Amino acid sequence: MPGNQKIVVIEDEVKISRMIKEYLEKEGFNVFIAENGNRGIKLVRGEAPVLVILDLLLPDMNGLDICRAMRQEGNIPIIMLTAKSQEVDRVVGLEMGADDYITKPFSLAELAARIRAVLRRAGGQEQLPKLQKKVITRGGLFIDTEKHEVKKGRENIVLTPTEFNILALMANNPGRVYSRLQLLEAALGEAYSGYERSIDTHISNLRKKIEEDPANPVFIITVFGLGYKFNELV
Ligand code: CA
Repeated sequence: MPGNQKIVVIEDEVKISRMIKEYLEKEGFNVFIAENGNRGIKLVRGEAPVLVILDLLLPDMNGLDICRAMRQEGNIPIIMLTAKSQEVDRVVGLEMGADDYITKPFSLAELAARIRAVLRRAGGQEQLPKLQKKVITRGGLFIDTEKHEVKKGRENIVLTPTEFNILALMANNPGRVYSRLQLLEAALGEAYSGYERSIDTHISNLRKKIEEDPANPVFIITVFGLGYKFNELV
């Protein structure tokens, strides 16, 4: 199954990182641990993991800064670890481009399930059953659903797997209105009820990346009281 897929855990609490490593290695992953942000970033560059588990509170750097730094380099899926008291940071974490988060204390089985869900989303077409077209071209936007690439004109746009799935789904059916729950399900492979509003954060991030003026979007349109749609007129 996961073969020897690499996962990097950036966490200063040794007890937690060892526990995660032991569990995930039984699940077949190859796990590397960094106990601070600087080492974590180096480890990610060196090992090119399929996924990063990132604690928010680290001794040298804020997890959000690390998240931002990694997003500038590419779209490795990131799962954030947060404490209950960091509810605000959780939202900011999604804004910074984390794909999911898990609140401490968590069960290792739950973490493994989240990892599988995030990897499934990042992995290719299977998580987009409703997607038919390989390349979607609309209003100067090119969305290649096989290569997971998005271009605007000649400019490459780096999206997180979650953002990509949301965009690809909507652009494949312009004009169709999707509820937040539908988008969440399409993006995450499952719907966490109660977290529908996290879609707004992903949409806002997407707009910042693809829209000329994110405050006046032309691609992704808000349908008040219902959800979102991809503009059928572009
Ligand atoms: Ca910590």
